[in-house]
Amino acid sequence: MRLTFREQGLKSIFKMERRRRVDGLKEVIAGGKVLASGNMLWAYKTWGDKSLVMEPEIKVKKWFGELFNRYPFTEDAVAYFRTLNMEAGDLSRNLGGGYWYADKKLVQIHGAQDEAAIHELSHAFWEPRRNKSAKDLMAAVVGLSKDTDPCYHVPSYLAKLYINGDPNQQDPNSPTGYWRGMLVEGNDTEMYAGLSSGIMGDIKKLPPYVKLFYQELFNEKLS
Ligand SMILES: [Zn+2]
Repeated sequence: MRLTFREQGLKSIFKMERRRRVDGLKEVIAGGKVLASGNMLWAYKTWGDKSLVMEPEIKVKKWFGELFNRYPFTEDAVAYFRTLNMEAGDLSRNLGGGYWYADKKLVQIHGAQDEAAIHELSHAFWEPRRNKSAKDLMAAVVGLSKDTDPCYHVPSYLAKLYINGDPNQQDPNSPTGYWRGMLVEGNDTEMYAGLSSGIMGDIKKLPPYVKLFYQELFNEKLS
């Protein structure tokens, strides 16, 4: 029986797809991983990662448990984090990238980069506080963007980008042709998480009028 060109094409696609699945299952056995969730497959696509597997829950919880000890999270914050769902792609690699799915109470990270984990946990922490405090936070970040105290130059630099945007970052959807920043977008949650990972949880680096938004998330390190 001769196959038409189209049928041949379909057959080779099926073959490739089958191989992808079989390879995926081999990976599960080899790496102690589990099949990736729908959310993880979606995230992999955004990261250009072709993996079909992710870390098992027990390993993810253990990794986050160690992260909670490496950074000065408050006890209350850790207790809240332990109520959330957590997923990680590959903890053997120091990959950045992650997502917070508010509707699923899910913190998801691509790999073992602390900065990404702190960032996504901060989104999660800010979620129940947004309604009440979004406007106040954005006003404080406007203040920080104008703060010239050299003690706060790291967060102040970030705040300037968040508030004023970045003429070097092209954005075809923006009326100015460049990224206009987070204030025009009303993006309090990205400001909150961005500053948090920008200082890697060291709230000494924040002026008092910004620090107050982070004091339930991080203890101030004394050293
Ligand atoms: Zn973010």
